[in-house]
Amino acid sequence: MLCAATRSCVEHRTPLILAGLKIQEGECYQNTFTAQDNCTLFTHLQRAYSLETPDQLFQPAQEQPVIVSVALPTPLRKTFDYNLKSNIPSHLNDLIGARVQVSFANQTLIGIITRVGHTSQFDLAKLKPITELLDRQPILPAELIKLCERAANYYCHPLGEVMAAAIPVALRQGAPAELPPLKTWHAIVDEEQSLNRAAKQLALHQRLRQRQQWSAQELQSAGITNTDLKPLLRKQVVIEQQQPLRPNRAEPLLIQTPHQLNLEQMAAVEFVALGAYSTHLLYGITGSGKTEVYLQIINKVLSEQQQVLILVPEIGLTPQTIQRFQSRFNRTVVAIHSNLNDKERCSAWLMAANGTADIIIGTRSAIFTPLKSPGLIIIDEEHDSSLKQQEGFRYNARDLAVMRAQQLNIPLILGSATPSLESFNNAQQQRYLLSPLTQRPGSASMPHMATIDLRNQPLNNGFSQSLISAIDSELKQGNQALVFLNRRGYAPALLCHHCGWLAQCPRCDSRLTVHQDPQHLHCHHCDYQRGIIRNCPTCNSHEIQSIGQGTERCEQTLTNLFPDTPVIRIDRDTTRKKNSLKSMLDDINLGQPRILIGTQMLAKGHHFPNVTLVAILDADSGLFTADFRAAERFGQLLTQVSGRAGRADKPGRVLIQSHLSSHPYLQALIQNDYSHFIDLLEPERRLSQLPPFSHMALIRSESKRPENAIGLLNQLRATLNQSYASNPQISLLGPLPAPMEKRNERYRFQLQINAETRQLRHQAAMLAISLLETTALARRARWSIDIDPQDMN
Ligand code: ADP
Ligand code: ZN
Ligand code: ZN
Repeated sequence: MLCAATRSCVEHRTPLILAGLKIQEGECYQNTFTAQDNCTLFTHLQRAYSLETPDQLFQPAQEQPVIVSVALPTPLRKTFDYNLKSNIPSHLNDLIGARVQVSFANQTLIGIITRVGHTSQFDLAKLKPITELLDRQPILPAELIKLCERAANYYCHPLGEVMAAAIPVALRQGAPAELPPLKTWHAIVDEEQSLNRAAKQLALHQRLRQRQQWSAQELQSAGITNTDLKPLLRKQVVIEQQQPLRPNRAEPLLIQTPHQLNLEQMAAVEFVALGAYSTHLLYGITGSGKTEVYLQIINKVLSEQQQVLILVPEIGLTPQTIQRFQSRFNRTVVAIHSNLNDKERCSAWLMAANGTADIIIGTRSAIFTPLKSPGLIIIDEEHDSSLKQQEGFRYNARDLAVMRAQQLNIPLILGSATPSLESFNNAQQQRYLLSPLTQRPGSASMPHMATIDLRNQPLNNGFSQSLISAIDSELKQGNQALVFLNRRGYAPALLCHHCGWLAQCPRCDSRLTVHQDPQHLHCHHCDYQRGIIRNCPTCNSHEIQSIGQGTERCEQTLTNLFPDTPVIRIDRDTTRKKNSLKSMLDDINLGQPRILIGTQMLAKGHHFPNVTLVAILDADSGLFTADFRAAERFGQLLTQVSGRAGRADKPGRVLIQSHLSSHPYLQALIQNDYSHFIDLLEPERRLSQLPPFSHMALIRSESKRPENAIGLLNQLRATLNQSYASNPQISLLGPLPAPMEKRNERYRFQLQINAETRQLRHQAAMLAISLLETTALARRARWSIDIDPQDMN
């Protein structure tokens, strides 16, 4: 269908190109209308609009009002119509995806136009005018609007909030969508003779010459500081320019010679056909060279002048990772991560949109980055739970990547050493194409894994004697050891030895964690903090003890045991400051003997060539959690941490302390056999009809008064029962208290929906929402709906 006034294809909202005054041929980007179609179309429109000549078809009616539908960041599930009175650009369709500022319920909000027309289902006279049109060009291209619409539908979330999440904060707040003039630096060739007597400067100059130009971000990721640059700028062998980066696609692509791939890697690279949709599951054991496979596929994409979008877990976004892409290709790499300020993030986003950036690396929300010429999407560590947003718009970036790759008709690669059961299942069903990498390249081999049976063993603050000796022997050989403990702080509990009193968070069902650095008690769930307690509040005894191990305590123990070796603790507390993680990683990579102690921040993605021993201090805690994914997570974490050992020439080993050494999961994992571990998990999931063998929606409700939270879900359950009680394809569970029933002074309950098909789940979820949005009880409790929940808490 054609829209007479806007000269566009109604279905696709793209401008129709028409030749000549007479309608001959028109073309929508998706459809081609033949002259004949248009004639029929004209006859049709002639009647509809009482036109006399075809020309009139092209004349937007002057006096007709222009109505825009705007998606606003509100919890209301609809768009809002406004009258657009300001200067209207010639192509109305250029407005779809543009931002407007409007007044809405006594506030000023910024929203995105999703429709332009001359009609509204509301009284035109009553429509408010927009306050301001912020963009003359769409900031969200049609493709991303479609992705937002599909995501809003799939996750049952209001479109306005989805769109707000899709754009950078600066744009959400109304900043102009223009790239500020960015400084770039480039090295002048033929001028290096002036550096002949400064070896360090010469080396830097040679490094800078590898790329045609450098952005501030690229210099930063490469660890090149202003101080380093200064002498080169003074000698005018490097020039600073106030001009945007230019795509330098005529320059040779490669800076570094790629590795010669092994056969499995080669097969994985060959398997990915560009220019068509397919999802590949690259299941490669840790250190098997997945990144090298990405790099060589990226090479092909960049040769086609196309862009690559890479998503990594937050902690994987270290300068090291960015540098690996940056030092391979003479192309512009931008990273979108939390260490950037809003302005920097926005610039990176706009560089992706206008095609200046060739490689875009980001975390979860980067899945919404607009791409001028998309060629490939990569999700590294596809199993990682940080890909799922846990609040507000609860989306999974991996699953949206599948939708987006389909829409764009480009390949998607999901890489992991420990793929999720969901992805394994998709591979089995042949929805994903599987590429296994089963070996480490070159001389690197898989670490040898063994358990240390803790039963009846004396422990020194959690360390068995055999573990201490093992660490000692590695250090003596000049190697590094990594100790993994997924619990930050000094100790997970504070106990009165006399009466058994435990320090509890007054706001949550949880114990307070003892911290020594600085000394205080801290609730990791609600952030409640207080000073340390020295006298028991119940019996007044002084015998207050810190129970159990946290990373701070481990650090202390290790420092006492190995006073001559620096101990580096990596957890959320030690990495809070900008660049602190980078400087610790730099120190580790110098290769001197070091003991690394840390949480899951240490587990993933890092490449530590000198770590030869990985110790898991406490494997048991991971085996007992209520969450149905607990065992899977445990296996992933254990495998990922273990994978940090022996990644280079030196062989590595892994020691796992446990009271349950003969547990079948542990046994499978220590055989370095993740597939076997999955084979053990799968039947359990299948039998209990849990994802991926069903489709889950979790409805949570919380209130300061438990009866409100549970009352709402009881009512919901009754409504759902009416429609689904006799339907064997759907099962309802709950309302049940959440695993942590009270958090931050609120009582929390949940209701689980498990359906055989996505469609049925969607139906049930929408029915639930229609009740939740109208019932009076919902005003007394806060509720949310989580589609494909990852964290069941
Ligand atoms: P993964 O991403 O699977 O953990 P990496 O891509 O980091 O593995 O590879 C581990 C190490 O092996 C890296 O130092 C990488 O440079 C090296 N490597 C990868 N592929 C090859 C190859 N074909 N030949 C030699 N070394 C390789
Ligand atoms: Zn006491
Ligand atoms: Zn708390």
